[in-house]
Amino acid sequence: MTKKFEIAIIAHDGKKADMVQFVNKNKAILQAENITIIATGTTGGKVATIGIKVKKMLSGPLGGDAQIAARVAEGKTKMVLFFKDPNSSHPHEPDISMLIRICDVHNVPLATNEATAQLLLYGLDELK
Ligand code: PGA
Repeated sequence: MTKKFEIAIIAHDGKKADMVQFVNKNKAILQAENITIIATGTTGGKVATIGIKVKKMLSGPLGGDAQIAARVAEGKTKMVLFFKDPNSSHPHEPDISMLIRICDVHNVPLATNEATAQLLLYGLDELK
């Protein structure tokens, strides 16, 4: 895959440690020349500590998920890796549902757990 490809990463607080481990494990893939990483605010801060260049949106509760949804709708973000915590409730649940819906509307691959995120990265080359 040589085309420019923007991937969004979002992790709820209860999943941030798993996300950091995942990003570390997949550093080589995520650092590819043609890949741009964006993330919600706090998630992005953690991704940056791994040494990966990341464009930070607002924090999730402040509209970060909504910003990412807008980029999906605009055709900028091509994949979303969402480390969702199913065991906690979130004040920005409407934004989360909206992001999931927008990914479905635009047929953009969206992972909502780590196992799926891994399969999506392994399948990157299939996406042209
Ligand atoms: P955060 O947002 O990365 O700023 O914590 C994630 C979220 O809660 O959606």
